[in-house]
Parts: sequence; structure tokens; C-alpha cells
Amino acid sequence: MKDTYDIVIIGGGNAGLALACALLDQPSIRGTSRILLLEGGSLDRVRGWKGDGAWENRVSSLTAENVAWLDRIGVWQYIAKDRTCPVNEMVIWSNPTPGQTPSIHFPPLGYPMAHMTENTNLQRALLRRIDEAGKGIVDIREGSRVGEMRLGEGERWIGLQVGDSWVRGSVVVGADGFNSPVRKFSAIESYGHAYPTHAIVATLEHPPSSVYPNNTAFQRFLPTGPIAFLPLSATASTLVWSTHPTHAAAYRRLSPEALTHMVNAGYTMQERPLSDLNEKILSADASGSPLDCETIKGLISTINISGGSLTSEEVILPPAVQAIPAKSIASFPLRLSHADEYIGNRTVLVGDAAHTTHPLAGQGLNMGLADVRVLSEVWEQVKRKGGDIGSKIDCAEYPKQRYPANQLLLTTTDTLHHVFASRSGPINWARGVGLDVINEIGPLKKALMENAGALPPRAAPTQHNGWGATAATGLEGWIGLKGAVAAGLGLLGDTLRRTAK
Ligand SMILES: Cc1cc2nc3c(=O)[nH]c(=O)nc-3n(C[C@H](O)[C@H](O)[C@H](O)COP(=O)(O)OP(=O)(O)OC[C@H]3O[C@@H](n4cnc5c(N)ncnc54)[C@H](O)[C@@H]3O)c2cc1C
Repeated sequence: MKDTYDIVIIGGGNAGLALACALLDQPSIRGTSRILLLEGGSLDRVRGWKGDGAWENRVSSLTAENVAWLDRIGVWQYIAKDRTCPVNEMVIWSNPTPGQTPSIHFPPLGYPMAHMTENTNLQRALLRRIDEAGKGIVDIREGSRVGEMRLGEGERWIGLQVGDSWVRGSVVVGADGFNSPVRKFSAIESYGHAYPTHAIVATLEHPPSSVYPNNTAFQRFLPTGPIAFLPLSATASTLVWSTHPTHAAAYRRLSPEALTHMVNAGYTMQERPLSDLNEKILSADASGSPLDCETIKGLISTINISGGSLTSEEVILPPAVQAIPAKSIASFPLRLSHADEYIGNRTVLVGDAAHTTHPLAGQGLNMGLADVRVLSEVWEQVKRKGGDIGSKIDCAEYPKQRYPANQLLLTTTDTLHHVFASRSGPINWARGVGLDVINEIGPLKKALMENAGALPPRAAPTQHNGWGATAATGLEGWIGLKGAVAAGLGLLGDTLRRTAK
């Protein structure tokens, strides 16, 4: 029947499109299945993306492991390479008190730890791969928002209402984002909480650094949340500044010129004067007259004269930002959520439909890509054995591999958020000791990064079976940060235990 499919994927974001590409790479699925991808919006903007205009403000750091996998399944060839930026080094620091700036510098490994990639660049590459390899196998219907869903006779298929018509799928994948209609239809609960934080994103324009190429990811942990500077090219980077919603709203009401000064202050100013400056911005904003650029500049230069800023002797700092294009400024609420289960009755969840996380470790999409990679591998095995890919029992290997790995990353990221936001005495001290110790031991840093998804492309695993591989997947991540985090938290925990004795 024309409207009957073996697999229906709901959602044409990066997770849904990547699943279609992953399935095209699995011979048993490819040879026997008809696949339908339904996207509620239009994909015209993605198809028409030329890769030569202004930088997008939605950018993801794709781990080396995921880049290697995208390459293997024929997607990376379609990426506009001049619009991705290899990340070779990482610097993270905190500055709880003047004169104390514990930091970690992860030096180059000899291959990129990650690639900063605009989300649209990846989406377009995935669409191109489907156009090339999916003829007669994958149908894409866009502008097709799924409404009602019904379980069919004998619970052997699901009916999906799209406009005035219905389609059927033997199994339905929810790649439909945080509000996932598929998760709701499946009556799968999810737990979590909204962070009292919004992330401001924007494109940062700056001169090329005279000291090093712009292949370094910077992240400073402020008490209000982390501020990251992530490279896009020699003269552009992307901002992800997580902060209180009231601060985010006030910053967004500043002129782009005033925000530029504020962002530079966010990277360089000591915590106390930065907090005083914030107070002035907030009270002016509350009175309905946001501070203008000259006033902010004046306040910052007064503070700088009195030694209120960090220097490059104390920590490696990013290049000074010169401008922020107004159109690139946006903000997003942040939340932690994890579905209780990944498989329902003839339904499966992947990507943000299954989990969302704080962007400080750059893991949301990376987790989603790992989900679809594993799901496609599990389905291939099930098909080969003559099993049912809509069966919870036959596909149990999918949650078995992905649930603990995702849970580990969600918990680690959440803990990191709280530990770095805290300014209590013992935690300050222990965190500083943890960062300093990691920084001093070169081989430990290298081991952390290699354990953390910054594997050289050829060493990237193709299978994730057993605890070791699951742990490797769980520990993959933003340029080694979660590895550092795990070790840092271990050190922190030890130190706190010793302090408590
Ligand atoms: C500030 C910020 C920075 C981030 N940085 C990183 C990073 O560096 N690295 C990283 O890995 N991740 C990062 N993330 C996370 C990443 O952006 C998300 O995890 C990822 O984009 C989610 O992709 P998805 O395809 O699962 O969901 P989505 O992109 O939300 O796609 C869901 C799709 O489903 C469609 N849909 C929904 N309902 C229906 C329906 N009823 N019918 C049809 N279609 C429907 C929607 O239209 C949408 O296209 C970041 C997130 C934020 C907020």
C-alpha cells in the first residue's frame, strides 16, 4: 500500500535525518524496508543553504567519534568543510577569587578533538546523502505535522494522521524533539528539571590571533553559569553564555555594541567587579533604560584601571571580540530531561525526544547521533535473525547500550553545572585543587582526552558492546571535558571527603 511503511521517523532535525542515513547503511534494512520521514516544518531553508553567508547561531561541537561515523556512512563528504572548524585545544577556567584562577589547558593531541559545525550544515549534508542513496527507500514528507496516532489491529502497526490523510508504520521513531508527541503517545514518562538558566548564543567577530590559530575552545565557569567561546574560523567564533534568565533578557536588550563589551567582560573580568557591573545592567534594564555602549565601556575601563580584569599571564584568554551581528543573537531555555524508557509499543525514542541536557558539555546532539548509530546496528542484527524491529524484547539491546551511557553524561553534566556554580569555601578550594592537579599532569590530561571521544578517527569504535565500549561511548564528549570532569569530580570528591574528616 502506498501509505504503508515499515519504519516511520517523525522529525527532520539532525537526529531523524541521521537515522535515515544510518539505516541506508545497514544492508538488511536497506534491502527490505520502506522508510518514511515526516517533518512538520519546511526543509527548504536547509536545502537552499549555500554555506557562504553569515554564520548560523546554532552550532554543535561534533565529537571525533561521531565525525568518523558520519564519514563511514557517507555523510561527511557532503559537509561544507570550509564551514567546520577543527578544535585542537581546550582551555577551561574559573576565577572565584582575585589572584586565584585554576584552569586546565588541554594541548593538541595531533588530531582534532571535535569539529564545530553549524546545525544546518549537518542537516543539509544528511539530506544530500538521503537524496543520493535513498531513492525508492526513504520518502521525505515535509510540512507534514503528525496529529493523532492510533495503535492498529493486533498491535502490529501504528496509524498516523497527517492533515486529512493517514499513514501506517510497523514501527514509529520519535526523533521529534523535547516535546515529543511520540513519547506522549507511548505514555513514557520523563524526569528532569528546568535549569534556572537561559543560553545566549551569538556569532563573535574578532581579529585573527597573533599567537595561535583559532582552533581553541574556551569555557569560563562563572557563578551564574559557563560562558564559552567556540571557534568557527580565524576571525569568527560562537558564543554560548548560560546565565540567569533575567540576565539573559537584559543582555539581549543591550545594543549589539554594548553586548560586545559585556561578552569581553564575561571572559576577562574578575568575578566581583563583573557582578557589580551586572547589577548596574540589571537595574538600568528594570527601569526601562538599558545601559548604552558608552556607559558600559566607561564602567569597564574604570574597573580595568583598578586591576579588575584577568590577564593572559593568569590564563590563556580568547581573542577580544570586536563585533556581534545583531541577527545572530538569540537565547534558549535549558533543561535536563530523560525519558524513563526508550521503547514503547511499536515506538522508539532517539535524540532530544529521549533526553535533553545543559549545553556546557556540548553533548545533546552527540548523544542523539550515538542513539541512532546504535539503533540502526541493533535493528540490522534483529532483521538478520528474522526478528521484529517493532518488538521491545527483540530490540532490548538498544536501551541496554544507550540508556546507561546517556544517564552517565546527563548526571555528569548536571553535577558539573552545580559544582562550578558553587562558591562555597571548601568546594572552591577542592575544585581549584582538582583543576590544578589535572593541569599539572600531562599524561593524565592526554588519557582523559583520549577516553573522552577525542579518539583519532581510525581508532573510533564501530561497535558498542559490553561495558568497556558503553563506558567509552558514555565518556565521549565535548573535547574531553566529561573525562576531565569525571576525574576532576573524583579528585573533588576525595578532597571533600578528606576535608570533612
Ligand atoms: C545553546 C545550545 C547549544 C548546543 N550545543 C551543542 C553542542 O555543541 N553539541 C551537541 O552535541 N549538542 C548541542 N546542543 C544540543 C542540540 O542542539 C540538540 O540536542 C539537537 O539539535 C536535537 O536534535 P533532534 O533532532 O533530536 O531534535 P530537534 O532538532 O528538536 O528536531 C525535532 C524535529 O521534529 C519535528 N517535529 C516535532 N513534532 C512533530 C510532529 N508532530 N510532526 C512532524 N514533525 C515534528 C520538529 O519540527 C523538528 O524539526 C545545544 C543546544 C543548545 C540549546
